[in-house]
Amino acid sequence: MTVSNQPTRAEVLAAYRSLPPRPDAPAADLSRDVIACGDESVREAALALGRDLGRPVVDVDVASGWLPETPAPARVHLPLAMASSAPTTAVPQHTAEALAASANATGLWICAPDLASALTVLPRYPGVRAIELELDDYTGLAAALGSGDALAGRRLVRTRAATVAQATLLLSIPGDFGVVVALTKATASWLKALDPVPSRLALYQPTHERMTESLHHDVDLRAFFAEFTQTVPVEGIPACVTGRPAPSRPRVLDTAMMAPEGGLEIFRYAQRYIHAHYKARSLRCKPCVHYESCDGMHINYIRAHGYGVMQPVLADAE
Ligand code: SF4
Repeated sequence: MTVSNQPTRAEVLAAYRSLPPRPDAPAADLSRDVIACGDESVREAALALGRDLGRPVVDVDVASGWLPETPAPARVHLPLAMASSAPTTAVPQHTAEALAASANATGLWICAPDLASALTVLPRYPGVRAIELELDDYTGLAAALGSGDALAGRRLVRTRAATVAQATLLLSIPGDFGVVVALTKATASWLKALDPVPSRLALYQPTHERMTESLHHDVDLRAFFAEFTQTVPVEGIPACVTGRPAPSRPRVLDTAMMAPEGGLEIFRYAQRYIHAHYKARSLRCKPCVHYESCDGMHINYIRAHGYGVMQPVLADAE
C-alpha cells in the first residue's frame, strides 16, 4: 500500500504510543488492534490490507494515528491509512448526557450488571421517560416494578434476555414490557417449544467480537426459521431469513464508544464497532427488494457461517 509521508519505524511506534491507552489494556498490548482508516480515498487499500493481514478495518475520524505492529513479533509496521497530512479542526467534545438532552432522546437502553447499578444512571438523563434494560441479573425487578410498568419514576418498555432462565423470569413478571430473547443454540429449543408464544416476546440475533464465539453460539438461522414460524418481531436478522422486514428501531447513540468526559474514544469505538455494528451484505443481495433498508448480517456470523444465509427476495417472487 502506498501512502504519503511514510514514517520511520521509530516514528510509527512513537506516534502509536502517544495515542490514549485503551482502558482495559496497557498501551504496549497491541494484540487486538484494527486497521483504522481515516480517509475515504484510501479505504479500498485499507480494506485490501485488512484482508491480507486478517484484521478488521474501521473508519475513524482522527487527525493522526498509526497501525501498530501485528501480534507476530516485528512482522510489519504500517502507518494509519491517511492520504494527506492536512491539519484537522478540533472537534468539540460533548458528554452523552448533553447529546441526549440536545437530541431530545426518548429512551434509555441501559446495560448493567444488576438493577441497582442500572438505576444509578437515571439521574443523569432526567428527560428520558422510557427505559430498556439489559442486565446480567434481573433480581429485584419484579419488586421494583409498579403499576403501568413504572420503574424509578420512568416506564420500563423492554428487557433483553440472554438465557432461557432470564427469559422465563422476565415473562413471569406481570406487565406490558417487552422481553427480547437472544436467539442462540442455548435458547433455540426452548423458543421452538413455546406454546402459546407470549405476546410480549421478541427475538434478537446476538453479535460477537470473535468468530469463534459466533461458531459456538449461533444457530443455523434458515433451519431455525423453517421450524419457528411464529410472527414475533426479530431484530438483527434479514428479511430474507425471517420472511418479514426487521422491525424499525430508533437511532441509538452508543455511549460505550465514548470517553466518560465526552467525545469518541478510538479504542472503545473500534471495539464496539466490531462487536455490534460491523455488518455486511452479500454480492448476491443487489437485486433483493430489501436491499436499501437491509444491513445484512454481522461480519462474524458471515465469517463463521458464510454468506449463504442471505438469499435475495426478488420483486416477482413476492
Ligand atoms: S439484502 Fe441481502 S441480506 Fe438483506 S434481505 Fe436481501 S438478500 Fe437478505
